[in-house]
Amino acid sequence: MSLVMKKLATAISNSIHPVFLTGAGISTESGIPDYRGTNGQFWGKYSITDSYISNFVNNSESRRRCWQACAEFYTIIQHALPNHAHFALAELEKMKLLRGIITQNVDGFHQKAGNSSKAVIEIHGTFHSISCLDCGKKYDCKIVYESIAKGTIVPYCDYCQGILKPDTVFPGENIAPNIARMAIRMVNSSELFIVIGSSLEIQPAAYLPVKAKEAGAKLAIINWTPTPYDKYADYLIQNSASQVLSEIVQIVKLNLLP
Ligand SMILES: [Zn+2]
Repeated sequence: MSLVMKKLATAISNSIHPVFLTGAGISTESGIPDYRGTNGQFWGKYSITDSYISNFVNNSESRRRCWQACAEFYTIIQHALPNHAHFALAELEKMKLLRGIITQNVDGFHQKAGNSSKAVIEIHGTFHSISCLDCGKKYDCKIVYESIAKGTIVPYCDYCQGILKPDTVFPGENIAPNIARMAIRMVNSSELFIVIGSSLEIQPAAYLPVKAKEAGAKLAIINWTPTPYDKYADYLIQNSASQVLSEIVQIVKLNLLP
């Protein structure tokens, strides 16, 4: 247990409004692949250009490959479980030591670990629902992926035959304005802003730590690798998110003992 971890645990114990930003690094420890890979690929093997929204909508081959990738991703998240880092955040919410989580992840693992839906802002959307781009009809992803498992190659809306798309933010799409506003409001009200498992290279998430500092919050960054914002961090921990958070929650519990 390092000194900086103890200091961060004390800061969390004393803070009314800790806000967390979580990125792929928190879920890779559950075996969920990072969307952003190397060599222009996503999830390790698909061409990232196929996931550009313009290609997904206009190019039937791109759309077919995207659905193949999504079906594989669905199988992975169906069989994966939240890890100690997710459970630690759920515990902090129960202890009223978590104002909210802004997440770049689409896997829904914060809710699965026990955080309330109202505490989680999914800035890149969710993988768990699918919408028709034409009529707006929403589908539970389970229904769509079951139909893919039974042989459907590219699913279409059963109501209007429109193009279906997972409710995640594809490259080239904007974050929903109401979601962005909620995230900014949460950041502005935080007094302690804690980044977990994000390399802070993708906007707008990368901008949030700066926004938090401007609003007067202390900044903590827990990430395996350096980020461009490490120099602004009041607490910098380069280690495994699940290990760090489970240890921190243990100290927080001790701190809260009467
Ligand atoms: Zn439709």
